[in-house]
Amino acid sequence: MIYLIANWKMNPTSQAEAKKLTKEVVSGLGRLKKRTGTEVVLCPPFSYLQIVGTALKSGVKLGAQNTYIKDSGAYTGEVSSKMLQDLKCEYVIVGHSERRNYFNEDSELINGKLKSVLKHKITPVLAVGEKEGESISVIKKQVIDAFEGITPGQVKKMVIAYEPIWAIGTGKVASTDDAMSARIFIQKTLSDLYSKNTAESVPVIYGGSTNSKNISSFIIDAGMMGALVGGSSLNPKEFIKMIEQII
Ligand code: PEP
Repeated sequence: MIYLIANWKMNPTSQAEAKKLTKEVVSGLGRLKKRTGTEVVLCPPFSYLQIVGTALKSGVKLGAQNTYIKDSGAYTGEVSSKMLQDLKCEYVIVGHSERRNYFNEDSELINGKLKSVLKHKITPVLAVGEKEGESISVIKKQVIDAFEGITPGQVKKMVIAYEPIWAIGTGKVASTDDAMSARIFIQKTLSDLYSKNTAESVPVIYGGSTNSKNISSFIIDAGMMGALVGGSSLNPKEFIKMIEQII
């Protein structure tokens, strides 16, 4: 399975635009001759989950960009995995670098979020990646911390997105060799934590300035199982072109 997971971030800014974007993606997908083996997921802001949820009939999956560790209670401003499950979300992005950096999410919180997502039978998309100038060895700690207390059975239900932070929204991309090394490094870390078999069952996808011109190199040359797509996912024609490149 190849995953194309759209992270709309804090966009668009009206329900009408969210509806239009959803419709354009759905109708673009409808025009494709085949789409077997691809999982297309839209992760809008919480406020548009219901609107985008109308697209589910077309086989597009619904995802959220964040969650909280508790199911309910006095946690002003938060949205729980239980609520996301009720909204038919099948994926949740956890540990995105923007959440780690702007909202001070630490490894303990990320681990708690992963557990809450898994508890509600939703697939977490765990984002990991190094900052500019850092070695990819920092990813090892991110993975080890995130997986604390997670069983081998649960690991098999996850997706990991390798996103070099300097590549997010910058137009710069990792070389396919570096992306491949990061993928192997993540799988080796998982293999040491669990087993080779468990490690191989986890799809590792790439994120960072992907578009219709570079997506196939990450899949074919770097062996990535898809992409977490920010900017290009807000342009329905470009997003559909990306899907065309991977089917
Ligand atoms: C992202 O937000 O995860 C991302 C990869 O963004 P972009 O594609 O815009 O770099």
